[in-house]
Amino acid sequence: MSVTVRIPTPLRGFTSGTGEVSADAATVQDALREVVETYPDLRPHLYDEDGNLRNFVNAYLNEEDVRSLDGESTQVSEGDVITIVPSIAGGVTADGTTKSQSLPDLSREELQRYSRHLIMPEVGVEGQKKLKAARVLMVGAGGLGSPLGLYLAAAGVGTIGIVDSDVVDETNLQRQLLHGTKDVGRSKLESAKERLEDVNPGVRVEPHELRLSSDNAMEVLEPYDIVVDGTDNFPTRYLVNDACVLLGKPNVYGSIFRFEGQVSVFDASQGPCYRCLFREPPPPGLVPSCAEGGVLGVLPGIIGSLQALETIKLILGKGDSLVGRLLLFDALAMEWRELKLRKNHDCPVCGDEPTVTELIDYLEFCGVPEYEEEASAANGVPEISPGDLQARLQRGERLRIIDVREPHEWDIANLEPLGAELIPLGELPERMADLDSTQEIVLHCRSGARSAQALELLQGAGFERLWNLEGGILKWQEDVDPSLPRY
Ligand SMILES: [Zn+2]
Repeated sequence: MSVTVRIPTPLRGFTSGTGEVSADAATVQDALREVVETYPDLRPHLYDEDGNLRNFVNAYLNEEDVRSLDGESTQVSEGDVITIVPSIAGGVTADGTTKSQSLPDLSREELQRYSRHLIMPEVGVEGQKKLKAARVLMVGAGGLGSPLGLYLAAAGVGTIGIVDSDVVDETNLQRQLLHGTKDVGRSKLESAKERLEDVNPGVRVEPHELRLSSDNAMEVLEPYDIVVDGTDNFPTRYLVNDACVLLGKPNVYGSIFRFEGQVSVFDASQGPCYRCLFREPPPPGLVPSCAEGGVLGVLPGIIGSLQALETIKLILGKGDSLVGRLLLFDALAMEWRELKLRKNHDCPVCGDEPTVTELIDYLEFCGVPEYEEEASAANGVPEISPGDLQARLQRGERLRIIDVREPHEWDIANLEPLGAELIPLGELPERMADLDSTQEIVLHCRSGARSAQALELLQGAGFERLWNLEGGILKWQEDVDPSLPRY
């Protein structure tokens, strides 16, 4: 059988620069043996002294890891492609030398601090040195970033970069354990840096106080070995994915919503990327954010810890990573499921003929307008400010106020004393008939997004005298009635 063996870039120094070698073989083993006979310098990088394939070298037959088939004895068919995939950390670097030669030494204090790692053969002194030499970038110091940062620092990951531009808010404390009550109002970066340096003064924390964008992402990500995605929005998620693919870096992915979580490792050099899985984002508004939909506080603790675990495994080059696998967790049912992910050869960023070869405008790609106010105006949603609404009500004008939030939100805070009625957005289509289209209607929700949708729905049904309460009940609380609880 004539098959093609693909040689990864780091090993092409031993194949005179050749990226593909043809072989006539019956099994994967035959094909690889033929390749090392042709290129003897390659042999020590693939096989050990006893002639076994080195454990950090993976061979894929087409899209399947041969370990999931019959190993090296797997039969091949005419036209098959065998891809050699070296592990990304602690294995072989671009110049073909092992990284261990330049690993940093451990001090007496470090030997003591990490003793529970050092006595495990899977880590040992060598592994601990790899952790010390590693550079990991956390995107986000929030719910996922909290357990992630704490465990990476405690494990002795030498350099931890953090990107965040938020300020600690009281509503963060329910799940973002990096920050404490005393940190409310401080920058998340400052608070995270202080906490991580307290956990382990031996690690270096590199703060990046910015919003990741197409203009800065390549420069920010470039100096790191591994990027961990702890973002909560689609534009940043696609930005991080594409930048990682373009830079050839692994992206440890996690996401959470209410009671459900997802984890995977995207590494386009070995497997699929985020876009192979989700080619395009859902339209804005379809998938609510944690701020709108809520999240159980312990869930990011679980998912962020798994991201930390996968990151540490990548650094050590041990175990089976989540590359090519998507782990799904349902906390209410207490169920784990695993999906096999395949590389999509039509993927716009990591496929055979990529159309995305540099970073794009991700806000536009995800349909997210830069400023919500502008969006409302642009969409022709008429808004009324809390101050104006209060003034009109005080003048005794008759305005019908409809709250389109959910009943459990109404229970936290509502405008019932002003005559507000609750009609959740989902029930609005059926209950529209109860509304009088000749009467002026003010719609409100928590911060203004859902009520803008409600307004468009009513506009579509022929209602004309409509207002969206600018900034929702949150802005009403700020501007008019500070006694209302915030959530
Ligand atoms: Zn892809």
